[in-house]
Amino acid sequence: MTKKRALVTGGAGFIGNHLCERLLLEGYEVVCMDNLRTGSLENIAHLRDDADFEYVHHDVTTYLDCPGRLDEVYHFASPASPADFERIPIPILKVGALGTYNALGLAKARRARFMLASTSEVYGDPLVHPQPEDYWGNVNPIGIRGVYDEAKRYAESITMAYHRHHGVDTRIVRIFNTYGPRMRTDDGRMIPNFIQQALSGEPLTVYGSGSQTRSVQYIDDLVEGVLRLMKSPETRPVNIGNPVEYTVKEVAGLILDLSGSASELVHEPLPQDDPKRRCPDITRARETLGWEPRVPAGEGLSLTCDWFAERVQRETGRVAE
Ligand code: UDP
Repeated sequence: MTKKRALVTGGAGFIGNHLCERLLLEGYEVVCMDNLRTGSLENIAHLRDDADFEYVHHDVTTYLDCPGRLDEVYHFASPASPADFERIPIPILKVGALGTYNALGLAKARRARFMLASTSEVYGDPLVHPQPEDYWGNVNPIGIRGVYDEAKRYAESITMAYHRHHGVDTRIVRIFNTYGPRMRTDDGRMIPNFIQQALSGEPLTVYGSGSQTRSVQYIDDLVEGVLRLMKSPETRPVNIGNPVEYTVKEVAGLILDLSGSASELVHEPLPQDDPKRRCPDITRARETLGWEPRVPAGEGLSLTCDWFAERVQRETGRVAE
């Protein structure tokens, strides 16, 4: 039987590399495309020797091709950390707009099934809890976060236009906060920040009062949801996230407990438009994909702490406290 061949844009990024790994395990041939702006070759080093894996260095905001057969396109290229929203706003807008346009054009030309990696950020600072897919959101288009939120909202819009107008077979996954091994150490998001601070005995930087909430899912749960969605006939957006909601302070406490760290908490200013509550309604994923998260936060965070601790040891020769 011929293997399916998939293109993963952003394949050297945090989610992308886990997705490439899982697709290889499922017997796919995988083309991993990345411009390494936020991805890294280190993330895919363990995949490079696999005969079914190919890495292509390319910026998807420019004309996109992928010679050979192509069955599925997973468009996962995009910086996604709020720290990046201020640092590289224009590349974020370009990859959401031009990158999605190019990736859809490729899928259309090759009659490949297409998946857009969208985000809970399409709901902005939501006024409805938990957030179902038919909630339209509360987004500040001209705020600092707007570059990501609006790029992804545009990306959803053009994906549905290609679906309706050109008949492209599309999927949209709305990804809620995800964490796990191989997140960037300079990512700037809550979990990598807290883990690194805990491991090095520095204070954990809690933005604002820390009473804002997030629901955090382990990477393996997300990848399982992504694969199920790609196989399913569901063309409406589907939330994939863990509905267990924690305050930021509670996440800090969990990480301190798991790492055995004696670090203190320090409060820093809350970034502009930081959502006060975020929690997915996953009824659609449960009903249409039979999916729900399996990895509790204690287990996933512990695996992630171990990975960061090993990394510190590799880089510095120092054992994390
Ligand atoms: N946050 C924090 N300290 C940090 C990094 C983030 O308190 O060092 C907060 C941030 O203000 C937000 C939450 O943690 O309320 C989650 O932030 P993250 O950057 O992980 O992503 P977001 O969910 O905002 O996209």
